[in-house]
Amino acid sequence: MNIVIFGPPGAGKGTQSGFIVKKFKLFQLSTGEILRNEIKNKTNLGNEISSIISSGNLVSDEIVTKLIEKYISDLKFKNRIIFDGYPRTLSQAKNLQNLLNKYDQKIDIVLNLSVSLETIKKRIYERQILENRSDDSEEIAVKRYETYKTNINSVIDFYKRSNLLKVVNGELSISEINNEISALIEAI
Ligand code: AMP
Repeated sequence: MNIVIFGPPGAGKGTQSGFIVKKFKLFQLSTGEILRNEIKNKTNLGNEISSIISSGNLVSDEIVTKLIEKYISDLKFKNRIIFDGYPRTLSQAKNLQNLLNKYDQKIDIVLNLSVSLETIKKRIYERQILENRSDDSEEIAVKRYETYKTNINSVIDFYKRSNLLKVVNGELSISEINNEISALIEAI
């Protein structure tokens, strides 16, 4: 089974993906995490994208699509990926569809974690204290939220058409969200 999870920054995508990975023995493919590692390791790609990430903008489709193909083409991960933070735009959703077709796979469920801007600001403030991410200042968090909102509606429509989309109330507690997501996945 392959899963897509999306939601605004601070919605709890990472936390929930971690939980799904353990429970359903999947592989978590977080494009944000992979990109942050490139920056941490000071690779050429990392140097190229560090200012984009710090400003809350999206890295180019070309870069992220190349990154995810590495995992989709790897038999170790075949039909057991949870895509965390990808796709974020309609063109990425189409790219993902094409890549999965190419490697004879498909998406089984798309989880949309829905959270208000107020809750996001609060969570990002808490995360900033814990993780010290360069893109977690309030100003950049709001920018990332706006970037998300601008692009995500077309992604939502794309998945609605294929009947894969499930909306999860991201305002609930971590364990309540866990339970809701588990039930949705078990019902596939
Ligand atoms: P995240 O950890 O998912 O919030 O991602 C952190 C940052 O990484 C985003 O604000 C973007 O700059 C970049 N990023 C992550 N995933 C993508 C993606 N699918 N497309 C473009 N940029 C991305």
